[in-house]
Order: sequence, then structure tokens, then C-alpha cells
Amino acid sequence: MKEIILLKDGEIVLKGLNRRQFEDALKKNVKVVLAPLGRFEITSAQSTIMVRPLGDDIDLDEACERIAKVFGIVSFSRAAVCDEKTMESVLATIPEYLGKQLRAAKTFKVEAKRSDKKFPLKSPDICREAGGEVLKRFPHLKVDVHNPDVTVYVEIRDFGAYIHADPVRGAGGIPVGTGGKAAVLISGGIDSPVAAYMMAKRGLRLTAIHFASPPYTSPRAEDKVVRLLQKVSCYSGPITMLTVPFTKIQEKLRDDCPEELFTIIMRRLMMIISGRIARNGGCSALITGESLGQVASQTIGAMCCTDDAADMLVFRPLIGMDKQEIIDISYKIDTYRTSIEPYEDCCTVFTPRHPRTKPVLKFVREAQEKANFEPLIEEALQNLKITHITPED
Ligand code: ATP
Ligand code: MG
Repeated sequence: MKEIILLKDGEIVLKGLNRRQFEDALKKNVKVVLAPLGRFEITSAQSTIMVRPLGDDIDLDEACERIAKVFGIVSFSRAAVCDEKTMESVLATIPEYLGKQLRAAKTFKVEAKRSDKKFPLKSPDICREAGGEVLKRFPHLKVDVHNPDVTVYVEIRDFGAYIHADPVRGAGGIPVGTGGKAAVLISGGIDSPVAAYMMAKRGLRLTAIHFASPPYTSPRAEDKVVRLLQKVSCYSGPITMLTVPFTKIQEKLRDDCPEELFTIIMRRLMMIISGRIARNGGCSALITGESLGQVASQTIGAMCCTDDAADMLVFRPLIGMDKQEIIDISYKIDTYRTSIEPYEDCCTVFTPRHPRTKPVLKFVREAQEKANFEPLIEEALQNLKITHITPED
């Protein structure tokens, strides 16, 4: 039996004139994630995108798994294509395709959608006939229109008739790329991959910036970040990662700045460098995994000092979340186990014994200016390492 996948786009319905652009982006993103599995025809009509495999040996389970991670899809259904667009074919396809589910259920109902107005039966008639047939074939079943175990969907569309059971929930959000570009500051921790995922969900295409301080941080720490971004890229699409050589800057910080301000000045330098990389790469905002009050550098006072150094919009999607809420998402996107691997991040190099939780901006600025990091910042920007990340790497 031939099958297709029907995708319902969600928020994009709300976007009026932009709708076409959103739908095109969504179709393109679906095409990219499915390309390694074989050829597909992807078309759209009436706020549904239809994904038709062009070949019999295409793994549709894997296709559905991938589609479940594409933002902009509210729900999707794997559906049988009826041989003909007739009621006879519909009635024959239902038990053949949904027999297993119907045998295991106690109650059911039929829902019909008839977008091809030339089809001779109207929706209520389709429901009645299909329901009668199901009761005849599966006499143990009862109809329950309010809370059925299985809903049999019959969709009569321009190019065919399709049968499917309850739709599966999609990833939600907005198609990646329709909201512009942003650069996420990514560490190997739990928080920043979650922050990256959340902002990709709002339609942003991601660039990633990682600060590495070899030999204080190991190549395995950087490899861990690559593996985290591979997981994120299942949702966000391809990511360009820029690794910033941060060692000399951190050594200068240790040598030339007051110890209790190490962290806060380091975070300011991260913002300055990231801002320049982001602008160069056409990004309109930075993203961090900061959460208010989580550590000394994320108090409101410390964050005011960090923000002062950023000359572009900074998104902090985790700002109001508890650690457990963040961990729940990291499980969902499968980054948690990688995040807890124990490699040193540059943030834990030269940590002060008593970091200032209420730093005074004036003193922070003065200490930073006195040390004059500009030549080393320029040098770091000249020596960025570029890694292209896709889910298949
Ligand atoms: P995470 O779990 O993301 O590491 P965290 O709670 O450990 O977060 P910090 O180490 O203070 O918090 O870092 C706060 C944010 O700063 C991170 O979420 C990330 O956006 C950014 N950041 C920290 N270390 C790095 C790094 N080495 N490279 C790039 N960005 C970093
Ligand atoms: Mg960290």
C-alpha cells in the first residue's frame, strides 16, 4: 500500500501575507532533512504539506522521526493513499491500513475532510458510511464521538483520498530561517544547547561561537561541543561553528585584572568578540544560556555589567527557568548525556575564589580598559577556526 505523510503547519497560518514565504521555507527545511533518505515530492495545498516518497524502499519511520524535529509543523500524519478516489476504495483501505489499531481499540469515531468539493458524498455521509463499515468489520467496537480510542480520518483532497489515524504532535514553532540569523554562545554545559534549540524554534538560523583555551581546555571539550551542536542541528538545520582561541586573553586577564572581576570581565570580552563575529556573519542577535541567579555571574548586577559590553540584542531564553526545567528540555532534545560529560570549559579556568556578585560597572570598565585587550581581541578574530555542522556528521 502506498503511503504519504501529511504535515499541518501551525503558527504560520497566522502570518497573513508572509504565509507563502513561511510555507516555502518549511518545505525547503523538510526537503533538506529527508534528502539523505531518498527522493520525495513535497507539495502544499490548504495549509497542509504533502510529502510523497518517490520509491518503494524509503524508510518512512525514519522520515517521520526527522519530520518530528522540523519547526513550523504543528502535527503530522502518516497516511495510506487509497487506490482510487472513490468511496469503495476508502471503505477497503480503512480496515487494511488501520486494522491493527481498530482491533486493539474499544471505541472509535470517523472524521472526514472533503476539500475536493466534486466528491459525490458530503463529509457527514462519508463519516456515516465509513463508520458503518468499521462497525461491520470490527463488531466489538463502539462509537464514541467525544473520547474515542482511535479516530479514523478520511481526507478527500484534489489529488487523492487518504486514510490515517490520530496525528502525531510536531515540533511546533516557526520554520528555521524565516526569523533571520543569530549567534549562540555555546559552552559544553547543559544550558546553552537548550537555549540554541529554543531560539531556532522561534525561526532563527544559528551560527555558534565557542571559546576554547587550550591547553587549559582539552580538544575533547571542543569535540563535545561539536557533538552537542550535531544534536541541536537535527532541529535547527546546519550550523557554522566558530571556535575562538581564548587562551592568551584569559592569561592576560589573570595577570592584569583584579581577581574578583575575572569572571565578569571575561564575560564582557566574550560579548565583545561574539558581537563582532556575529555582525560579520550577518547575525542580528546573540543568544546565551544564562538563567537569572543560577551562578555568581548571572545575578542581575553581574548581567548588567555583561550586557553593557554587548552592542547588539542578546536573547537569553532560559532567563526565568529553573535548572530542572532546562534539564527536562535537554533530555527531550537528547543533549543531556553529552552535556554532563566532565570536560573543563574556559569559564572554569582561573575562577576567582570570591567572584563579585554585585560588581560596580565603573570599576569593571576601568579594569578592562586599563588592561587593554584590543590587540589580543584582534588576534583572536584573525585566528577563528570554522567547523560546519550537520546532523549526519
Ligand atoms: P552552560 O550549561 O550553558 O555551560 P552555565 O550555567 O554553565 O551554562 P556559564 O558557564 O556561566 O553558565 O555560562 C553562561 C553562558 O555563557 C552559557 O550558557 C553560554 O551561552 C556562554 N558560555 C559559557 N562558556 C562558554 C564558552 N566556552 N564558549 C561560548 N560561550 C560560553
Ligand atoms: Mg558553562
